[in-house]
Amino acid sequence: MSADQPNNKKKNWKKYRFQTRAVRAGQTRTQEGEQSEPIFPTSSYVYDSARQAALRFSGEEPGNIYSRFTNPTVRTFEQRLAVLEEGERCVATATGMAAILTASMGLLKAGDHVVVSRSIFGPALIWFQNILSRFGVRFTLVPLADVAAWEAAMRPETRLLFMETPSNPLGEVGDIAKLADLAHAHKAWLAVDNCFCTPALQLPLRLGADLVIHSATKYIDGQGRCLGGAVVGSEALVGGEIYSFLRTAGPSMSPFNAWVFLKGLETLGLRMQAHSANALRLAQWLEQHPAVARVYYPGLTSHPQYELIQRQQTAGGGVLSFDVKGGREAAWKVIDAVELISITANLGDTKSTITHPATTTHGRISAEARAQAGIGDGLVRVAVGLEDVEDLQEDLARGLDRQ
Ligand SMILES: *Cc1c(COP(=O)(O)O)cnc(C)c1O
Repeated sequence: MSADQPNNKKKNWKKYRFQTRAVRAGQTRTQEGEQSEPIFPTSSYVYDSARQAALRFSGEEPGNIYSRFTNPTVRTFEQRLAVLEEGERCVATATGMAAILTASMGLLKAGDHVVVSRSIFGPALIWFQNILSRFGVRFTLVPLADVAAWEAAMRPETRLLFMETPSNPLGEVGDIAKLADLAHAHKAWLAVDNCFCTPALQLPLRLGADLVIHSATKYIDGQGRCLGGAVVGSEALVGGEIYSFLRTAGPSMSPFNAWVFLKGLETLGLRMQAHSANALRLAQWLEQHPAVARVYYPGLTSHPQYELIQRQQTAGGGVLSFDVKGGREAAWKVIDAVELISITANLGDTKSTITHPATTTHGRISAEARAQAGIGDGLVRVAVGLEDVEDLQEDLARGLDRQ
């Protein structure tokens, strides 16, 4: 890691545009002068002397110690993602859920209160409801788009507001700027799970959020290979207690996965544009289909929050849902008629996926709670991949035309 290698001069990434940062930020060449980033599959590191080892362990000399918390490949990924999210510091984790765990454990203590959007990733909801609550952290669930409800839920001991926008599967949007103001007026933090948009389409920190949470498993990988996650924010917030929790408890990212994500970031901007363009075309086509009652997609001009979406996102992303007339039977018919699209609940892949939320991802919640959340029996979710959109259209038409 010598500073005298070509292109190792410290750069001010702020002056470069998104795609340039995505391809180049964070890389430090070794003395081998490699063009592509190397993987460092090593658990530990060696020192020149006993004195150097002592200085490293005491923190007086920066450098690698042990890969639970210092690995060059993981660090390269962290630096690149931090630059893309316009944050000062990133901590990479083993999964997206490990990122939520690490952020919560770093920031919260018994007696604290959290306000949580009702429309977040299922296991994240279970984390707040069933696990964090055992450690004395209380929470209130609120509807994502209802700013007044967030305001009413605030208490003197509220420390964190947690949201995911746009929501899954209905593409509802939360107002990041307004909720950041609300959090700060109460000396609390706003954390935004930016998994669906990624920094290619939405920059929560620029809008005032304090933390960005990622499941790198989705679009950052982009090809359905590795699990990973990240927390991004200021040096004070992420470099302090959040990093300290990761260093001690160890929900760390593997160097191999970091390398896959690093290469994923290089094409993230291009892929998110392509996912969004495909999804928009499919959504517009579905809106015109007689067997479809309603389409939910944050890129449609018919979306009730279109104005806010225009301010907050540069495109709609890759996930859309639609209500098929005729309930569960009709929805299953559409799913069972596909020949191309994968029947699976995953998303963020080059390969399109199709799922029936009411009997899969949202099957564990009561029918009443599902109805309240707007997830009907006829709802079908498609995470639109990078195939030719005409082929996806034909694949969905097969079931829809038979209704
Ligand atoms: C998948 C997902 C997570 C959890 O990520 P894992 O890598 O599966 O642990 C968190 N948030 C959102 C929005 C997700 O889609």
